[in-house]
Amino acid sequence: MKNTNTHTKTIPFLCLLLLLTLLCGCSVSASSLTMVSTKRTAALTQQGEAFWEGHRAAQTYGTPQQDVTYGGNLSYALQYPETGNEAVDARIRQIVTERRDAFLQEYQAQAGAEAVLLLGYETYLTDSDQLSLVWFEAHQEADAPTPDPTVTITHFNLTSGAEVAAEELMWAGFAENAAAYCTQYFTETEPYQNGIFGNYRTLLAPESGRYTRFALTEAGVLFYFDRYDLFPGSYGAVTLTIPYEKMRAALPAPQTEEAALDPTIDPTQKLVALTFDDGPNPTHTNAILDTLEQYGAKATFFDLGSLVEKYPDVVRREEALGCETASHSYAHKNFNKLSNAEIKTDMQQTEAAFQKALGHSPSLFRPPYGACDTRVAQQIDLPICLWSVDTLDWKSRDAAEILKVIRAEGDLDGKVILMHGIYGATAEAVAQLVPQLQAEGYQLVTVSELIAARHGETPQAGKTYGYSYFQ
Ligand code: ZN
Repeated sequence: MKNTNTHTKTIPFLCLLLLLTLLCGCSVSASSLTMVSTKRTAALTQQGEAFWEGHRAAQTYGTPQQDVTYGGNLSYALQYPETGNEAVDARIRQIVTERRDAFLQEYQAQAGAEAVLLLGYETYLTDSDQLSLVWFEAHQEADAPTPDPTVTITHFNLTSGAEVAAEELMWAGFAENAAAYCTQYFTETEPYQNGIFGNYRTLLAPESGRYTRFALTEAGVLFYFDRYDLFPGSYGAVTLTIPYEKMRAALPAPQTEEAALDPTIDPTQKLVALTFDDGPNPTHTNAILDTLEQYGAKATFFDLGSLVEKYPDVVRREEALGCETASHSYAHKNFNKLSNAEIKTDMQQTEAAFQKALGHSPSLFRPPYGACDTRVAQQIDLPICLWSVDTLDWKSRDAAEILKVIRAEGDLDGKVILMHGIYGATAEAVAQLVPQLQAEGYQLVTVSELIAARHGETPQAGKTYGYSYFQ
């Protein structure tokens, strides 16, 4: 086994010359070629060093080998490990040769193309003699910005020397546990929570295909996410190691209570939930209900218990039209400023008002002013529902402005829009918005329907459904 980490040219000079002649198809004299080649090879070695630098600390297994070769317009700087395991080393050399040949073939097809193939690696070893060899490959074209390396992974069983497919290393619940961990981690941890793309639930789903590219390390399963895959480009490529105990966690039992889903809702199509706070109001809530009725659309009303007592017919009409009736407290007080006892009284009064008007409890709770700190949340025995688009209708009181704010959001799929059921301007805006959204293919659903259809979940008491959830 070689112990050195020097720049070994593995292709003898004669072969190199032959290769150059083949590649260039030119008739430059051998001596000038040699001069150019030596100079270019030195530059190339430097380029390789820079490319390999970031991976050196993770090259803990085997001895690094380098193949730095200038070949006319096309060159390569390859680094790979020699492990001393004959079968493994033969396969590694085969992979390196395949990569090089694929690169040469790709660029030889483009007349005059100048490019460098850069190949680097990292190694990860588990105590069960499992080697994950992570390859970083970049095709650097002349005058082009440095490309993001492509990451691929080869697994070996060091006892048998056999290459092992990633799928063979995955256990039951592997992708599901990875998806659950990644979703929680990336939506709750700085700086990821502010950058994660809005459709992360789809991107990170177990079946998304993102959990078959991993390295098994001593600490856990290391996943690689390409630049631009989950986050804006400024985040670069992102890696996440999930501890083995999290990866082997028992999966939550399938929900026995199936999320009630209206069979007319197609969860694969666009969904949006309109919500109206502070009602019911006999004039404006009814105007909104007229529009919903006309277009067969649904919405969610976060009603005040005190007004439910006053206008029970309006609340009953909300329900009769298939809308969701939810609580916005009894008298619109800031819960953060109430004692636990006061919160309890408020919730009980609201519950009584809903029971009297509808014969059942409100389905969800939305705190007045969105004020709901940890202490308050612990007092609430309903699912806590916030929003993801704030129309500020209470401020503008202008239909055109309300529509403008909503449109400025762009894609509304999966979002919950906050409005108020007590303004003429809001009712006016809704009369235009509902047919527009339907024409664009949006299904107007209740919040609970959106949670069921998009997230496969039944809203749970005490859990907060907030901004990042409704993306
Ligand atoms: Zn309110």
